[in-house]
Amino acid sequence: MVQELETFFQSIIPARATVWEERWHPLREEWVIVAAHRQDRPWNGELVDRNHTPLALYDADCYLCPGNSRVGGEINPKYHGVFVFDNDHPCVGPNAPANPIPPAGIYRNRPAQGVARVICYTPRHDLTLAELATVEIENLLATWQDQYLDLGRRPGINHVLIFENKGEVVGVSNPHPHCQVYATNFVFKTIETEAKVSDSYLNETGRVLFQDIIATEQRDGARIICENERAIAFVPYFARYAYEVFVAPKQTHANLTTLNDAEVADLAAVLRDVLIRFDNMWGMRFPYVMPLHQAPTDGGDYSGFHAHIEFHPPLRKPGLLKYLAGPEIGGGNFLSDTAAEEKAAELRAQCTVHYTRKCRKSA
Ligand SMILES: [Zn+2]
Ligand SMILES: [Zn+2]
Repeated sequence: MVQELETFFQSIIPARATVWEERWHPLREEWVIVAAHRQDRPWNGELVDRNHTPLALYDADCYLCPGNSRVGGEINPKYHGVFVFDNDHPCVGPNAPANPIPPAGIYRNRPAQGVARVICYTPRHDLTLAELATVEIENLLATWQDQYLDLGRRPGINHVLIFENKGEVVGVSNPHPHCQVYATNFVFKTIETEAKVSDSYLNETGRVLFQDIIATEQRDGARIICENERAIAFVPYFARYAYEVFVAPKQTHANLTTLNDAEVADLAAVLRDVLIRFDNMWGMRFPYVMPLHQAPTDGGDYSGFHAHIEFHPPLRKPGLLKYLAGPEIGGGNFLSDTAAEEKAAELRAQCTVHYTRKCRKSA
């Protein structure tokens, strides 16, 4: 009986991956070196946040909490739900010099034009996106849609980048849950590449590249974390970071503003599911950079672009950063020490009730 049980458990535990190869990243058109044979064991130790003292619901020193004053002297309203304001320290904005001094020689410059905003997810200082109810995430998605529409239609705004940096390891000292919007005169490089590649693929094959990625992931199944009728989450075959996850609607939309209510609801549900799995994995507020990849707003034809949300988590284990070094900074290609299949299995094994409420781990 014991022998049978052992055999059974061994059969459901994913085989240790020993992937050692290069994998093509079709959206970036670059190779990722996967050297998972070098990795050591996955994290089995203490849950990091076990003795974590909860944050206060409100922090008098937080510039994002309702009723508090910000750096520029503005007072936040006593907001409920989502709150959006113009960034007090914008990287692009109306106060940037209109006529910067032209540089010498072959160099070029131009005004740092655009709009930078901050979106607070909730008045609650102590929560993260992972701890919000599905309906609150749906409301946030509606705000993301509004911001893309409002800023994207402005003359001179060619792209709207919405992203969240979460955690001190990615430089965020204020835990109040929020993301940022950079609406710029230029299209960010990664989006430019994805748009170009998606367009060529559509022209050459008549198909949407991201649809073929989803179909390939579904056929394989090993890297899918969760899905429902209209949305899906997976660790892509070509992941550059250990716990990199793509979350996307199943139907192609160049940006998220054209999702219908059912698609928004399903996308919010899958997004929340992924966020909870992240936090439950190590029992900590899982850090990440989360960009929304949506088509440029420069008036071009982006029918081959499939909007999606990416997660780039910087940690390989609790306290262990993925350092960007020689290959990444020096050469521009990523070296991954982990196999996407194994990391997806770790995420799939997590409970979908947030650890602060009940569930620590199911596997
Ligand atoms: Zn706060
Ligand atoms: Zn992308």
